[in-house]
Amino acid sequence: MSAAVRLTGVGRSYGPVAAVRGVDLEVERGEVLALLGPSGCGKTTTLRLIAGFETPETGTIEVGGRTVAGPNLRVPPEKRQVGMVFQDYALFPHLTVAQNVAYGLPGGKKRNGRVEEVLSLAHLDGLGGRMPHELSGGQQQRVALARALAPGPEVVLLDEPFSNLDAALRVRVRAEMRDILADAGATAIFVTHDQEEALSLADEVAVMLDGTIAQKAAPEILYHEPASRGVAEFVGEANFIPGTHENGRLSCVLGEVPACGECTGSVEAMLRPESLRLRPLSNGDLAGQEAEATVLAREFYGHDQLIKLRLDSGPVLCSRLGGGPGFRPGERVAVAVAGRAVVFPKG
Ligand code: ATP
Repeated sequence: MSAAVRLTGVGRSYGPVAAVRGVDLEVERGEVLALLGPSGCGKTTTLRLIAGFETPETGTIEVGGRTVAGPNLRVPPEKRQVGMVFQDYALFPHLTVAQNVAYGLPGGKKRNGRVEEVLSLAHLDGLGGRMPHELSGGQQQRVALARALAPGPEVVLLDEPFSNLDAALRVRVRAEMRDILADAGATAIFVTHDQEEALSLADEVAVMLDGTIAQKAAPEILYHEPASRGVAEFVGEANFIPGTHENGRLSCVLGEVPACGECTGSVEAMLRPESLRLRPLSNGDLAGQEAEATVLAREFYGHDQLIKLRLDSGPVLCSRLGGGPGFRPGERVAVAVAGRAVVFPKG
């Protein structure tokens, strides 16, 4: 079966700025993909290229197995079978909710039935007669999603869909959106710079750095087995320490640590903060696989806490612990690794 969306060698520049550089990307049918990356890395441009609001200078774009952009070919946005949810929702303010949802549907007997069906799918039953300004932010977003889903597109594209919502609402609305997309069996690509949003919502995450896809993988793979230092740094918090890697064992200031990664010899190793365990250090009771350190700072978040510490040998690291009693700045601690390091070539 062909992919819902396939980009092959897609490039787009604006004057001297190469916004998108030779992007290869495949999205399976029914998959929810997050396009994650820092500001200016080319996420929105990629989305706009798929939608047809931009034209690639190189490469081809296929939607539903049909080439929609390529050398000497450009299918207009309205003929691509692509649904779009804009950052500000872009609802028609003078049309009711039902009229907004009906907008992209062909006329005929089935139209009203489809509107009702999609309103129900988006948990908007009974709100069809309201005007957009009579809805909450979360409801407006669901109308935008319902409008995009109504014609049964090959893919729904969402540009920073949660950026207009406050933090508390965002968590609820993104769970709702996940359910609606799953119930519709829709393929979706959403752009975000928020790693938590990407990891919690998407089936697959494509990390975009500097105009290229640095890695596309399931959230847990991306987090535990980042393909490069750049991905490790952008997705979650990361400690980096030098070491020597042979046969899945890293030798470093924290002792011998299990490790994964291709490169051997002198490497740079990444350890997630939650794999550093701490215990108070009384005089001279250091065990074999431990290093001595001093606590520099503590950030308490309730459900967990981040402890910043300096190893006696120099490196400053972060440890993430449960929300129990913490360690005070200045306290002496023993640090041990409970987890696996990921190794990268030395930069
Ligand atoms: P953000 O998260 O800030 O929206 P982004 O990852 O979506 O960023 P893009 O909007 O795709 O990034 O922009 C990629 C690069 O291309 C940036 O350097 C941007 O300044 C540039 N760019 C985008 N659109 C244009 C345009 N119409 N004209 C000139 N430069 C542009």
